[in-house]
Parts: sequence; C-alpha cells; structure tokens
Amino acid sequence: MKAIVAKFGGTSMASATTIKQVAKIIKQDPLRKFIVVSAPGKRDDKDIKVTDLLYQVAKDIQQGKDPVAFKTIRERFVEITEELKLDLPIKSILQDILQKMKISKSLPYIVSRGEYLSALILSNYLDFAFLDAADVVRFKGNQLNRPKTRNDAGLLLKKHPYVVVGGFYGSDEQDQIQILPRGGSDISGALIADAVNAKLYENWTDVDGFLTCDPRIVEKPQRIEALTYRELRVLSFMGASVIQAETMFPLIKKGIPTQIKNTFNPTGEGTMIYSKLPPDRYQSTITGITGVKGFNLVVVEKEMMSETLGFDRKILRICEKLGINVEHFPSGTDTFSMMIESKYLQEGKKEALIAKLKKDLRPDVVEVTEGISLIYVVGRNLLQNKMNILKVFSALVNGNVNLKMIDYGSNGLHLVIGVEDIDYKFAINALYNEFVLGGTTK
Ligand code: ASP
Repeated sequence: MKAIVAKFGGTSMASATTIKQVAKIIKQDPLRKFIVVSAPGKRDDKDIKVTDLLYQVAKDIQQGKDPVAFKTIRERFVEITEELKLDLPIKSILQDILQKMKISKSLPYIVSRGEYLSALILSNYLDFAFLDAADVVRFKGNQLNRPKTRNDAGLLLKKHPYVVVGGFYGSDEQDQIQILPRGGSDISGALIADAVNAKLYENWTDVDGFLTCDPRIVEKPQRIEALTYRELRVLSFMGASVIQAETMFPLIKKGIPTQIKNTFNPTGEGTMIYSKLPPDRYQSTITGITGVKGFNLVVVEKEMMSETLGFDRKILRICEKLGINVEHFPSGTDTFSMMIESKYLQEGKKEALIAKLKKDLRPDVVEVTEGISLIYVVGRNLLQNKMNILKVFSALVNGNVNLKMIDYGSNGLHLVIGVEDIDYKFAINALYNEFVLGGTTK
C-alpha cells in the first residue's frame, strides 16, 4: 500500500506540547510513514524561530564573535527534550554541534542544525528511524540535484518502515551540507514524496488551508477546498503564501496530490491541491482573489504603430536591457501599455526607460501612471461561464471602483484587473462579494 509523506512546519515543532500533538496525528494513520520536519518555530508572537537564531549564530561565528544566540537555542532544545522525557544526551549533542560550527564556519551547516535536531527529537519520541537529510537530499554544488535525490532518497527511505528526516538541507558531492531557500522544508517533503511515490503529500501548518482572499483585506474569507497546482502557482506568484509554489514541481508530473492541513485543527479538511482535479471537483469556478499594489502603467503611443512590424518587440527589448520586468502588456491600436512593478522603476530607471523609448522609437506619447494595483481573479474554466465577466463589472460598479485595465486571460485560469491603489481594498471586497458570496449577479 502506498505511503503518506507528512511534513510538519515550524509552529508544529515549536514546543514539547506541539510535538506531542504532531506525534498523535502521525500515529492516527499507519500510512504516515515518512515524516519531514522544520526547525522549531515561534511559540508566540514575541518568540524567535530557531532558524533565525541560527543565522545570528552563523554571523557571529563568521565574524569571530561569541555566538550568544546559541544559549537560547540550547535552552529550547534542552527544554523540549526534558519535557518529552527523551533518552537523548541532548546537552553533549549540542556541545558537539557548537564545536563543529566553530570549526567549519559553514553557513549551511550552522543554519540547518535546527532541522537536524528537530528530526532527531521527533524520531526518538516516536521510535521511528532517524535519517540525516544529508544522505537523502543531494546537491550538485549548491544546486539541488533532483535525479540523484530521487535515486538516493528512494533507496534509503525504503529500507525503513517509519522514518523522520529534517527538511531544508542536504549535501553535495563532497558531503558538505547545502541548504534550500528559506521555507525549504516544503521542498524537502515534496522531493521525498516524489522519491517514494507517495499516495499523498500532507503539509501540516498552523492554518486551515488556503483562503480565497487575504484575511487582512476581506473579513473571514472562505477556505479553498481544492485547487490545481497551476492555480496555486498564480496565487502564490501574486502574493498568497502558505506553501512554496516551487515545492510542487516534483509532484505535478507524478500526479501526487498535496493536502494542506492544520496541526491545531486536525479534523478540518484543509485544502487539496491536484495536478488534475477529480471529475467531481471539476467545474467552472473561482479559486481565489489576490493582488499586488504599486504597479506603474506605462503607455506608449505612436501613429501607425500597429502596422510597424516588431515595434512591440523593440519596446520590450528596451525594458529587458534595462532589467525591467513587464508583468502585463494590454495593448490596442497604435498603443502599447505595460504594467511594471514599481521596484523595477526606482533609482533613475523610470527616467532611463522614458528617455530610451523617446530616443529609439520617437513615440507620440509616453506616459507613466503610478499607483496601480493588479488584482487576479484565479479559477478554472473562467471563460466557459459567460457570467464571470458580468460579475467583474457588477462588482466594480457596486464597489464604485474605476477600472484602469482588464485582461481576460485566454487560458481561463485568471482574469487580471487593474485599479488605482486607493481602490485596491474596495475592489477585492467587491469581487469577493460577487464571486464567492454570490453577490448580485447570479
Ligand atoms: N527552518 C527553515 C526556515 O525557517 C526552513 C523551513 O522552515 O522550511 O526557513
């Protein structure tokens, strides 16, 4: 029978009490055979994540200073070990680690010790095998080596019926520790799910799943029950973050679904993420509404532009050369507009862009409007339901929001709406009312 890979994030691993809860969840399903853990996270708002403390330790060691933050780390791990009544010589393990940190001075080695210790502690508590992620997740230099990881992890993990592995790190050809990006335990879990051909990848967090909107903008937004990896990618790209979207790449091909679950509300259904939705979930629907403020709308106009071959390309080439990323280019006859995030137009880049456009292309108009928000309504088969476009307009009229731009994506995956920054909140709320709550347009 196929196994489940369950990854538990920092808040789930934050204290002895939360670790007990994690163990209870794991024991509830014998298919939860491969467990991946983060370093202990925050216990409350004032707390500091162990990984952040380790970064301070690394900085101090590299600067030849006394790593004062190690004391706090030691206290946390000793407290957890004692409260869980583990038969683990934690003080001497920590002493050893500190020694090695001082000798190697390696950032990846130092900052990955939170995950290493988390895994050691949980494996001990559950009586599962402990596998050092250095032997499981393999790198070529500092880049992840997916084929080798698939191979090595597959062989190693299958030797043990029940295993705990630390997330976030692995090792290279010289057996030096290497790390994934911050939050990378999600990726470790996905790599392991891929290597063991898991039937499901569970990602245990401290939230009930993905929400349809940012709760700081919409009051108590509904949970997303199911979505596809592609939808997730659009949502994450535009700022919604629960899980790292690149996590998913190994899983998409194999069709392994991911379930986002809440350690502190384990009976909740969470959010399911599929490569392809099962037929009962497949319908034209909205998945979520997200957006980003602070775009610039750059409009270039020139008579007969539409008849001039390669004019658009020349504009985009100028942007490319200046290192400016263009998010959208909704255009019309003799007009080419670009949505550009303001971070790309700082420190004189805006002026440089205007000057270059004027010099090379001699346009009739070059105009920059600041303070534009892009809002993405993400879903599936949006084009199939003709009511969707009506809903956008009805929402904007009801919310008294001026439309700056609309791009009705031809893939049916999202439609993009540009509004002024001051209207951002109103627009999202109005769209949420219309699309999620049923609104006025049924
Ligand atoms: N502990 C690491 C971090 O804080 C990795 C993770 O939690 O996934 O980034």
